[in-house]
Amino acid sequence: MSGWVAVAGLGPGAEALITPQVSDALAAATDLIGYIPYVERVPNRPGLTRHASDNRVELDRAAHALQLAAEGKRVVVASSGDPGVFAMASALFEALETGPARWRSLDIRILPGVTAMLAAAARAGAPLGHDFCAINLSDNLKPWPQIERRVRLAAQADFAMAFYNPRSRARPEGFARVLTILREECEADRLLLFARAVSTPDEELRIVRLADATPEMADMRTMVIVGSSRTRLIKRPAGPVLYTPRWSE
Ligand code: SAH
Repeated sequence: MSGWVAVAGLGPGAEALITPQVSDALAAATDLIGYIPYVERVPNRPGLTRHASDNRVELDRAAHALQLAAEGKRVVVASSGDPGVFAMASALFEALETGPARWRSLDIRILPGVTAMLAAAARAGAPLGHDFCAINLSDNLKPWPQIERRVRLAAQADFAMAFYNPRSRARPEGFARVLTILREECEADRLLLFARAVSTPDEELRIVRLADATPEMADMRTMVIVGSSRTRLIKRPAGPVLYTPRWSE
């Protein structure tokens, strides 16, 4: 039997946000590989071997998936959100590029998912309705000065910005520094969204002005969206809507 690898996005948390394509791959898989909490999101069933690993071993995990597929297994590598957004799809191709030549003829599929940025934006309204960029604030895989430079230039270009991995216990000071840069480049009443654990029972949304934003408003389960200079609020009885018009002059 011929094996395959599907790198699949499980979405931000809610079952309803898993695509039918990903559900089909999970149902057909013999092996499931991923970071422990993502593997735990997939119910166990007979015939499915689960390989849960720590977050820091992406390349080993990717090579393991390719090796199993080469042996004829049907392998799903699970990511949260979308697998192509700061996640396992690139790690798989890094392993493919440097691995044995025979891996290149394997059947490899990338199955998209609802990324946290889009799930968070949708819960708040439409803050990404005009030009925007996404920046990973973790300096695990890039130098910190590059992050600062990208945030500053994106603010100067008046992009809305979506920040992944805003803050961790290992890097508590980085996000404070990002807020300082935003205060240097943007007006005090610029609107920010802190969207935590979107689509899960722990979901919390908070919309604040830049002047009132504090580093503690973000943690590793939070997506931060910084509006552009045109992003605004509409008051409604059910709570405010954050949106960016489609035009600028
Ligand atoms: N591949 C994932 C992102 C991985 S990086 C995706 O496409 O969504 C992990 C970061 O994503 C977290 O630190 C957080 O910033 C964000 N994130 C993931 N799930 C989230 C959720 N349910 N709510 C808010 N942010 C989330």
